[in-house]
Amino acid sequence: MSRIIATAAIRGAYKCMDRAETMLSEAINRHGRDKAIEFPGTAYALPVILTLTGKRVEKLGQLEEVLWSARGWLPVMPTEQLWLPYLGGALDAGAATLVAHEAVEAMKPLCGISLTSDFWLGPTPDSILREQGIKLVDGRMPGFAACVGALPNDEVAEQLARDLQERNILVFMGSNTAGDTMAAQLNRRRVDMNWETFLVPYGPDTSSIVHALGFACRAAFTFGGLKPGGLKESREILLYNKRRVFAFVLALGEVDDEKYATAAGAINFGFPVIADTDIPEILPSGICEYEHVVANVAHRDMPSRAVEVRGVKIKTVDIPIPVRHGPAFEGERVRKEDLAIEFGGKYTRCFEYLTSRPMDQLQDGLIRVVGPEIKDVPEATRLPLAIYVEMAGRKMQPEFESILERHIHSYLSEPMGVMHLGQRDTVWLRISKKARDAGFRIEHLGTVLLHKLKNDFPAIVDKVQVTLFTDPGEVDKLYPAAVAAYRHRDQRMGALTDEGVDILYSCALCQSYAPNHVCIITPERPGLCGAYNWLDGKAAYEINPHGGNLPVKKIEVTDPVLGQWKGVNDFIRNASNGAFSRFSAYSMINDPMTSCGCFECIACVLPGTGGIMVVDREYQGQTPVGMPFSSLAEMTGGGQQTPGFIGIGTLYILSRKFISADGGLARLVWTTTRVKHRLGDALRARCEEIGKPELYYKIADESVCTELEPLIEHLAAVEHPALEMGEMI
Ligand code: SF4
Ligand code: ZN
Repeated sequence: MSRIIATAAIRGAYKCMDRAETMLSEAINRHGRDKAIEFPGTAYALPVILTLTGKRVEKLGQLEEVLWSARGWLPVMPTEQLWLPYLGGALDAGAATLVAHEAVEAMKPLCGISLTSDFWLGPTPDSILREQGIKLVDGRMPGFAACVGALPNDEVAEQLARDLQERNILVFMGSNTAGDTMAAQLNRRRVDMNWETFLVPYGPDTSSIVHALGFACRAAFTFGGLKPGGLKESREILLYNKRRVFAFVLALGEVDDEKYATAAGAINFGFPVIADTDIPEILPSGICEYEHVVANVAHRDMPSRAVEVRGVKIKTVDIPIPVRHGPAFEGERVRKEDLAIEFGGKYTRCFEYLTSRPMDQLQDGLIRVVGPEIKDVPEATRLPLAIYVEMAGRKMQPEFESILERHIHSYLSEPMGVMHLGQRDTVWLRISKKARDAGFRIEHLGTVLLHKLKNDFPAIVDKVQVTLFTDPGEVDKLYPAAVAAYRHRDQRMGALTDEGVDILYSCALCQSYAPNHVCIITPERPGLCGAYNWLDGKAAYEINPHGGNLPVKKIEVTDPVLGQWKGVNDFIRNASNGAFSRFSAYSMINDPMTSCGCFECIACVLPGTGGIMVVDREYQGQTPVGMPFSSLAEMTGGGQQTPGFIGIGTLYILSRKFISADGGLARLVWTTTRVKHRLGDALRARCEEIGKPELYYKIADESVCTELEPLIEHLAAVEHPALEMGEMI
């Protein structure tokens, strides 16, 4: 490592350590050693400290020991004459700095400093990590950038943020340059900052950057199934990050000692530093085969340079529209006062309908607007809209129509300044004044659909033709055909059973994070992330026979009750790298399927009730098993097979095969109001179908109780059928 950087990093590390220690002794004086400290919503305590020291810090007193050992990693403070021949010293100083930073961040609330003031989001709860994790695994979000400091002006800040968003890179922001911050700059430009827009402001101090590294550590725990422990474990977690988490640091503005020290910490994770100033570069050596520090990069070139250095794989599609586009713009709202035109919502009829047609009846690339265009109506007009997509493909099958149509939502959310909510005939679509002023027209909605469909589904989409009806009469004329198609598809999907097919589909998308995990998706059991059902698997295989979804022949039934097939067991032995040899599709007790980390819900046995509970990942409270979701997830995830615990997609609860080997839906004794809400009438209908219409009202939720004893009393009072069914294990 360059001598200047090493010296500055070590000097910075001493400063950070001094500050953390001072803060700690004040905090202990005021609150005592037993005072609890934590980041909200995580099962990994202070995750960077847990990674680097193996210690789970939950009380102030425990920080003393941790800081003391981290101080021991600091090399001797170099004098100008001292020559540092290798990276080691500075890297150790960097690791110690991260420990100090995380201690400081954790102690802030005790000193009356909120981690979430103004637009700052503070540390990330596990629930968000899991939700975003699926984007990391399926490539929608190829990596993250930790932006440290501020840009020369607000406009350049927005430019950089947009350039990163356009590449779908998650942007963490922290620290400041001479008191200004990138997040404040974006805020002044009225840029939406939240998890949906991939722009996440952590905090104004350099210490807040540690939350980005905490995110990385927890990715290794939640998706990689790695465990904290000693030196060996800590090294494995760092290597996991180097290999699988494509992240980098953008150093913006003057780099002071503290920032050098923090950068050295990030280099431990294999995250290179790209700077806009003239700092000494560090070329490839030792642990990395790429540069550690690249200096003097113009802001305009930063994203592409970073992507190149870190080897991030970016999938972007060129679409000839006058605004930026990409998944990072999906979450952006168009506010009422920014509105150029609006369709649907509760005001007008707005629906989308995709259908397949014979090849020779379509003119590929034809996009038409039938009715007024954006320029023909006054600002903020409300019009009806029918988005009619006709497509043809040699390998197209009618059952893929619903899958392609479901993608319209994300496609039309991607252009900057277009907001799309809902699906089918519940669509609400807005186009902003900014987009209109940049030249965006209704016609461009068709351009987006044309390009995205052809790009994402090349094997099944050969021709696409889009008609955008804004003429009320035409919209009403097409509507009955759309409604008939929706109904027909639902009936067809509902009629699909596990017995009715010979082929199931595997999904190994999550293996990039959980190397032994594989989902087996059947018509009656969707993937645990909730994002892939059997038809998705089938279509994905048609599109790419060498991708993450493969057909799995059942061959013969090994156990019809458990849902075991010879073909499946043979397949998973191989696909799990020999880690597992049997999977049951219908049991959470005997050979349950493994769970990676991105499950929508966890189902878990509740001893003493004869039943199970289902908790969704957004639920933050306590559950009757005595653990919040985050702790449950720690037991369930990481690609393990844990009898009594499975990760599931929410809709699996409605399936006739929902833990059917263990007693089925009648076992459900507790769930969250969110799950009840989402399933609503469909859950009521399932209760009726199994001959227990009153079951719906007997299933408790957090508004009834969150502890086991009161739950058992409740179950007895309402005579829940699970009590009669006997213990599950
Ligand atoms: Fe991951 Fe399973 Fe979802 Fe595939 S179906 S993305 S393996 S959780
Ligand atoms: Zn997963």
